[in-house]
Order: sequence, then structure tokens, then C-alpha cells
Amino acid sequence: MDRREFLKVSLFSSALVTPLFAKDLKKTHFILPKKPFEYFHKRAKNSKFRVMLIGGIHGNEMGAYKAADMLIDATLEKGELLIIPRSNFTSILADVRGYNGDMNRKFEYISKKDPDYYYVELLKEAILNYKPDVLISMHDGYGFNIENKKAWGQSVVIDENHYKNFNLYTEAEFVRSHANIYLYKKLSLINTKTFTSHIHDEQKKALTGWCLEHGIKAFCIESSKQLPNVEEKIKTHLIMLREFFKLYDVKITELNEMIKEPSKFIDKRDTEIILEINSQRYRYKKSEFLKVTRGSNIKVVKINGPRGSFIIPRHINLNWKSFYAPYVKFDVKNDYKKLFNLKIKA
Ligand SMILES: [Zn+2]
Repeated sequence: MDRREFLKVSLFSSALVTPLFAKDLKKTHFILPKKPFEYFHKRAKNSKFRVMLIGGIHGNEMGAYKAADMLIDATLEKGELLIIPRSNFTSILADVRGYNGDMNRKFEYISKKDPDYYYVELLKEAILNYKPDVLISMHDGYGFNIENKKAWGQSVVIDENHYKNFNLYTEAEFVRSHANIYLYKKLSLINTKTFTSHIHDEQKKALTGWCLEHGIKAFCIESSKQLPNVEEKIKTHLIMLREFFKLYDVKITELNEMIKEPSKFIDKRDTEIILEINSQRYRYKKSEFLKVTRGSNIKVVKINGPRGSFIIPRHINLNWKSFYAPYVKFDVKNDYKKLFNLKIKA
């Protein structure tokens, strides 16, 4: 077997395709856009408090990021919101907790070499620039805390009852008790005692711990991964947020309707991928097999569709924006959901 043959075999057989000697082999060159870090600011005329909502730090918690995303299109009658629905879009697309490890342990320190560095730094910068009166980190925890003390699902989580001049307990307890009126799976209040005990030292590295240390009041809300469907998870989040909104004078016209029927508010437009293949543009809205000439340049130039639409290659490192390969199958996704695929072969 000559070198060329060997590489061909090894490229096909290994799980991760390495971008090796690409030009010599005339492999197809694929270029993907950078994953966006999106934030949305909304402000009504009579706003008193700044509320920041953070979703998607954990990629497999769709109730959290879908609920945050839903509020972006809603009508704000009162208050001010900064929403970052997809803090960790790579993990959302992979539908795993942390594609590059747990992002919620990277707020105290993150290496510049970490693929999450850019997103964690942007998130911290957004928080410090905006200086919200309250920040709510949204999650779908495992199980139900009320049934199993080790599970975090269905809870309002605080780092301490009191931290500096913040009374976290009173607000969390207000939200828990009022939200429970509307929930069939009841919420607990969890105090991790992040700064006064060593039971949850890891929480110092989490977003809420980092916020408190930087003078920003922060709570974590958890629906449960074990709720029967994404709509129930979204509902749980919106019911908890509705109580926080009472405390921070936020009024959203459609909120009660969203809680009743969240699926009505999910953007169901088609997703379209625009590829540039050797400087020629093509549009794709359904699964296709594309045969291209060897050494082609294939660039994803645009992704049209609902927020959360993106295209990811299978068996290729999702942090890569450019790579060479002879054959790639791409999944076009809306967040966790596969929509169609494009198989590209030279
Ligand atoms: Zn989480």
C-alpha cells in the first residue's frame, strides 16, 4: 500500500477525520461558519429592573434554551430583558451536556486553549457590561428533587440563603411556592451553600457562583429532563419565570398563552442551507446526495430558518470550522432536532 492508499484507508476507518496532507491528496475542503453567540435585548418604556436570562449552558437541556428562546419574540409591556438562549451552541447541536466538558465549571477559570473559551468569555463580558439586577441560569436537571435529594430536577437553586446584601432565600421561596400552584411536578428549593460549606465546592466554578462573586444577584432554575416532553419542560421554566417577573416588574403580553400552549410559539419555518461549491451557490431544503469533483471547495455561506438552525458534520470534530475530507455526511439541525442531511462525496 503506498502512502496515498494508506491515508485513504485510515481516513475512512478512523472515527475522527484528520486534516492531513490535504492539498496533496486533492481532498474536498469544507468550510463552516462560526457558531453564533446570540443575545437579544428587549426594553419597555417603563422599565425599572434589568433581568438577564441564560439558557443552553448545558446542551442537552432543551426545555431551558427553548423557553429562553421563546421569550425573544414576545411582546414586552413592562421591564427589561437580556436573553442569551444558546450559551453553548456546540453542545446543543451535539445534544450533550458538554461537548468540550462541562461549561458550567469554567466560569472561575478557563484555559485559552479550551474550545469553549470564546463563548464563556463573551458570556462573562455580556454580564459584566449589562450589570443585570438579577440573572437567571436556566437548566433541565436530572430527576425530581422532591423524590430524590440527589436529583436536581424541578427546583430553584440558590448558592446561599444570603450573600452579601442579597436575600436569595426570600425571592427563591416566593418563586418556588407560587410556581408550585401551577405545576403537577412540584419544585424544591435547593441551597448549595457554595461559600459557607465544602459540599458543593464545584458551584464556585459555576455561572451563579461567579456572578455572586462579581456582585450580580443570580439564581438557577431547573425543570426536569424526565418530564414527558419538551413542551412540559418549557412550561415549567415559563411558570418559574412568571414569578420572577412579578418580583422584577416584567410583563409579557403572551406569557400566559405560552404557558398554556408552548408549541404554538415555536417557529416552524423551514431551514435552508446555502452552499458555495467552487464559487457557485446552491440552496438545499431537503436531504440530498451531492457528487463533487475532487479538490472542491465547499463553503456553507448561509443558514436561513428559525433560530437554532445549523449544519454539523458527522464524525468530525464539531469545534472545527475548516477541514479536508473525501466524504462527509452533514446533518442539518434545529437545535437537538435533525431536519435533513446532505451527503457530499468527491
Ligand atoms: Zn444544567
